[in-house]
Amino acid sequence: MKKPENLLRRFMNKILSKQSSEIKDNVNYYKENQTNVASVNSYITNAFTELIKQYSSKNFFKFVFNGIKMPLSLAEAKSTKKFVDDINDKIGVDYTKEIKRTKLVSYMKAKTLENANLITNMSQTNIKAAQTIITDGVNNGVHPSALVKDLQKQLNIGKKRAKIIARDQVAKIDSQVARKRSSQVGVKLFYWSSAKDDLTSGKPSGKYPNAKIKCWYISRKKTKHGTGIYSYKEGASYGGENNLHPGTAHINCRCTAIPLIENVTYDPVKKERI
Ligand SMILES: [Zn+2]
Repeated sequence: MKKPENLLRRFMNKILSKQSSEIKDNVNYYKENQTNVASVNSYITNAFTELIKQYSSKNFFKFVFNGIKMPLSLAEAKSTKKFVDDINDKIGVDYTKEIKRTKLVSYMKAKTLENANLITNMSQTNIKAAQTIITDGVNNGVHPSALVKDLQKQLNIGKKRAKIIARDQVAKIDSQVARKRSSQVGVKLFYWSSAKDDLTSGKPSGKYPNAKIKCWYISRKKTKHGTGIYSYKEGASYGGENNLHPGTAHINCRCTAIPLIENVTYDPVKKERI
């Protein structure tokens, strides 16, 4: 199965690459008319006004909205499957139908809208940054080939940002879906499982002992529910932040929530995992 994160990233990169070739048309004009700065400037101003218009249009928003529907619903499906598998494994009763019957329609609609806005803003920011690079370059007599290099750097920054957005958004869906699915079947608690390797944030002998949010500690903390045990509703509190959830506690958080079922995988009297 393709990773929803990669599909989302690829979609954003396609937009950035298309923009990049449209932006480079300005450099071509500059190359051919280097002696006439006034004409180049007015050409650039017009071209970028058009680009901004195009990338803030209703049609573009619709294009983005439709383009991200599939990767986002795939993310939802994968998170749901993981949750259902966890529960089925432990209880030996198949909850698949029960959980899948309740679709997360309104949540996913809101999430798709939010992501479409994020991506539309990302592309507008990218165009404005490119406009600044070109205009400054032209006014300072920067050679067209140097401008192309600067624009390539800008494109790479955009692609890195797209990667971060994709990862962050899919992690957020993952964590939210787990919370929503758990409340549907009446599971209130989860165990905070950290990756436990040297990259785990806050691990004393690891690579990031001083991270602000220490997942190492969160997964070992004694709470009112037990060691490393939290409610889906409240999440964990740490480093001045509340309602933290595994997978989204910080950037690149690799923690997962293991649903705890009373009297099956959780002893409510002793307050510990079974
Ligand atoms: Zn973590």
